Formats: sequence, structure tokens, C-alpha cells
Amino acid sequence: MSAPGVVSHFDAVVVGAGFAGLTMLFRLREIGLSVRVIERGSGVGGTWFWNRYPGARVDVPSMHYSLAIDPNLEQDWNWPETFSAQADLERYANHIADRFHLRSDIQFDTTLIAATYDEDRNRWWVGTDGGDTIECKYLISAAGCLSATNVPDFAGLESFGGSWYHTSRWPREGVDLTGKVVGIVGTGSTGIQAVPVLAEQVKHLYVFQRTANFSVPSKNKKMDPDFQRDWKTHYDDHRKVARLTSSGLSWPEPPTVSALEVSVEERNRVYEDAWINSSYTPLGLLRGFSDIATNLEANETCAEFVRNKIRQIVKDQQVAELLCPKDHPIGTKRICVDDGYYETFNRPNVTLVDVRGDPIAEVVPTGLRTTATQYDLDVLVFATGFDAMTGPLLAMNIVGRDGLTLRDKWNAGPVTYLGLQTVGFPNLFMITGPGSPSVLANMTTCIEQHVEWVRDAIEHMEHGGLVTMEPDAEAEDRWVHHVNEVADFTLFKQADSWYLGANIPGKPRVFMPYVGGFGNYRAKCDQVVEENYAGFSFT
Ligand SMILES: Cc1cc2nc3c(=O)[nH]c(=O)nc-3n(C[C@H](O)[C@H](O)[C@H](O)COP(=O)(O)OP(=O)(O)OC[C@H]3O[C@@H](n4cnc5c(N)ncnc54)[C@H](O)[C@@H]3O)c2cc1C
Repeated sequence: MSAPGVVSHFDAVVVGAGFAGLTMLFRLREIGLSVRVIERGSGVGGTWFWNRYPGARVDVPSMHYSLAIDPNLEQDWNWPETFSAQADLERYANHIADRFHLRSDIQFDTTLIAATYDEDRNRWWVGTDGGDTIECKYLISAAGCLSATNVPDFAGLESFGGSWYHTSRWPREGVDLTGKVVGIVGTGSTGIQAVPVLAEQVKHLYVFQRTANFSVPSKNKKMDPDFQRDWKTHYDDHRKVARLTSSGLSWPEPPTVSALEVSVEERNRVYEDAWINSSYTPLGLLRGFSDIATNLEANETCAEFVRNKIRQIVKDQQVAELLCPKDHPIGTKRICVDDGYYETFNRPNVTLVDVRGDPIAEVVPTGLRTTATQYDLDVLVFATGFDAMTGPLLAMNIVGRDGLTLRDKWNAGPVTYLGLQTVGFPNLFMITGPGSPSVLANMTTCIEQHVEWVRDAIEHMEHGGLVTMEPDAEAEDRWVHHVNEVADFTLFKQADSWYLGANIPGKPRVFMPYVGGFGNYRAKCDQVVEENYAGFSFT
């Protein structure tokens, strides 16, 4: 993209108006920058604007999954349930936008389609699908880890006579599924949330499962006002703890005892306790012992505990066995959190279809055909997730110094320094980029830490009269090596997960998030600043 005729100028362009984009705008205003936020959607909230599918809600308890940007906000806001539903999270995002008058700096219904670094001027030229061109000093991607939808490339989809939807593009006005025969493809976090709710609405639901996933019950309930009041009284303390833990939650770190060091009875007591008390946080099951993420034998004790739960809940033992995950250690794919998922398979109007054994062959005008059977459907729902982490960044067609495209640079997988910047792309910052903990921890904590770090770095530049900021190649190499080294120490790479890009055909298999824990990561970022931005160069 060359420098065009009509241009607007801002200090910073931020891509995305989810929690990251809103927070970034809020923080950049604090230091007096002019900012334009570009957002594809027609409203704020990002994930919680787009994901309107039945059953959409968080799997992190509401009191943790919120922003710390303003002490009055966290005191004024009340969450109706222990695990917030999409509508409440969208309401929260809108409240933030209104409360802090953010909308005036957000350009909605606009997609950033190109960004080119102009070395002569040390500026980014940004192009949108509306034909706008914006010149800016700082380009900040708050485009999300899970915002590029993945619609499977099934032969014959265009011939389908019914309607089809991706869960992340569910119509705002909803879909009336009464009396309909519906097929849902995908049984990850989204499918597992949607299935119980869809089953109550439809005439018949076919659940097409390729990979069984582990899920734990959320035990979601109405928020107890006393609990909420007490939490708010100690909000500061909770935030302080969350900033230090590996999970980004205000939650004790896992004990140091191995699952293999205790008796079977003791082990099962710990798991049972986590299962029953999951309303605190369902992920407790993975944190009962020190080695569930690192030792296969220890992991298997936890996995088998969940499989036995499935066998107890699901009456048809053939269906139960199909629902029991056996091809990956527990926790190496994002563990799912549900409201009655396994129980749903006891309903007469729900059928589980194993498409690992008999793969989906094609979509036909009347439904979907596997290699074994044809299913007549009125509606097809794709709960097939996202081109995670790199998808939204690569879609922006970013070109850095010397004409280097981000796509070429990341041809073999993403490389970054701290998930914040990448060599060759000065003044391009990423919020929760690959190489940072992001999707492996509470995202609101991760987002705020990145946003504040970037705000401080930019303030440092503005005060010092600095023009560009970029990582050193050696620092980037060391960080990439470290990210891999830590992942190798765990069982994570044993699963074909979206963390590894395995859900997208042709995507390089690289473990993208940093698994070393949010607290350690934050300490590393702080240390870099204390050492005068060690590993970064400024001009
Ligand atoms: C169904 C679902 C449930 C989740 N549950 C949890 C949970 O329980 N706990 C947790 O920690 N995390 C959860 N997440 C992760 C969630 O994405 C983050 O918690 C958080 O909302 C991310 O905020 P964000 O602003 O970084 O990105 P997003 O919310 O994804 O916002 C990014 C925005 O950027 C816009 N955008 C992207 N590219 C462009 C472009 N080129 N031009 C213009 N606009 C663009 C998108 O339209 C989007 O609105 C969940 C994700 C999903 C999908």
C-alpha cells in the first residue's frame, strides 16, 4: 500500500474493540495520545459481541473475569450469575464504553485490511475495507486470540438447502429452532456449552463428534449477594493475588504434592472435592496435585476420574465410551466447562455421531453425509472454533521493514519477544500475542498486564523523544527457545489442539501460548523494564 491522497493521522491505531481494545484506548488517553480504534463489528465487546450462540458464557468465575481499570467500576458493577452469560458480558463491555465515553474514538463496521511500515517516515500506513487510510506512529493489535472463525471446508456446503451458522457469527436476533432437526459439528468448549441448550429447543439434535473432550460441570448459579459484597470489599487483595499466580486468578497455587504420592482414596477425595466445588473454579480439578500437567501417569489418574464420571452420568454405556476422551492427556486441550453436557445424551432427542470412525464426507442439499450414513437436517451449526492466535494478525496483511510480510516472517510459526513485538515490525504491539500466556490464563488479567506494559513503553518513548521500538533478534530467539523449552516440559504437545494450530489444515504446528505461568511471565516483563527495556532497541 502506498501513501495515498486522503489520510487521517493519529498517534495510535488500535485494532479491535473487545476488552483489550477498550482497555488500550482507555490507557492511551491517560497519556494524551490521539487514538483511532478500528472494529469490524457494529458494537463493542469482541468475543462477547460475536459469540451469541445458545449457552455462551465464561468458564472463569465472574468475579475474576472482569477488568481492574477503575476501582469504582468494579464496585458498581454487579454480576447476576457466578459464570457470566454472553449477554451480561456484552452489557458490561457497553457499560465500560459508555461510562468512559470511549465510542467517539471507535470506528465500527470497519476492518483493517492492510498495514505497511513506511521506513522513511517511521510511520504505519493503515488501510481499511472502507477505503480509509490512516497514518499512525503506533499500531496495536487487540484483534483477539479467538476472533478469526474457522468454517470447515466441507464439500457441498453451498448446496445445503437448510440454514447454517458458525457459533461465533450467531445472528443477533437469535434463531428459532423449534421443531427443527439440527446437526452440530464440533465438541470443543463451544459445542459443549451449546449442546444442552440446543437440545431443549430442537426436535432432534445430532452431535457430530470427532474428538471427545474433557468437561467439568460449572455448577453455575445466581450470584450470592453476600459473596459478591465480600469479594468487592477485598477486590484489591484479589487483584494483587491474581497478578502473581500462574493462572491469573485470585486462587491458591497448586500444592507441591504429586498425584502419585498419595493413596488412591486420598487422590479421589481431592478430585471429587474439585468436581463438587467446581463453582469456585472448574479448573480446580487440574490443580489438585503438582504434576497433572507434567507427568503422564499422574495425569491419567485425573483423566480416568473424569471418564468414570462420564460413565456414571451417561446411561447408554456405548455412548458413554464414545464421550470418554482417550486420545489426549486431560488439560492439554482447553478443558471445557458445561451445564449438563453429558446428561444431555440421556435425552431421547439427542444422538451422538462418531465422525472419527465414520468421517464427514460431504454436505448434501438435505443434510450431511458421513462415510456410513446420511443425516437429514434443517439446520447445521458449526462449533468449529477459530484460527487461533495468529489468524487475526495474519489476516491484516502487515508489511514491516524491507517489505517483510508478517505472513512470511511467521511462515514456520509465530516468533515474538514476550508475545508483545516481533523483529522487523517497529512500533507494532500485540495484546496477548503468541508467546504470551494469554489463552492459558485468565484473559482479563493477561490483557490488562499487556495493555499497561504497552502504555508504559509508549510513554517511555514519548518522554524520551524516541521514534521506534523493536526487539533485538537475539532476545526474540531466546524467548522463542524458552517458550518451546517450557512447553516441552509439559504434556501439552501430546494433544492435537488449537494451541498448536492443529485444527487448521496447513497451519504450522508450533505451541503458541507461553505455558510458564502468568506470574512468572509478568515478573519477566517487569524485569525487562527495570533493565531499561532489555532486549528492545529504540531509535
Ligand atoms: C466462546 C468463548 C468463551 C471464552 N471464555 C473465556 C473465559 O471463560 N475466560 C477467559 O479468560 N477467556 C475466555 N475466552 C477468550 C476471550 O477471547 C478473551 O477472554 C477476551 O474476551 C479477549 O478479548 P480481546 O479484546 O483480546 O479479543 P476479542 O474479544 O476477540 O476482540 C477482538 C476484536 O477485534 C476485532 N478484529 C479482529 N481483527 C480485526 C480487523 N482486522 N479489523 C477490525 N477489527 C478486527 C474483532 O471483530 C473483535 O471484536 C473465550 C473466548 C470465546 C470465543
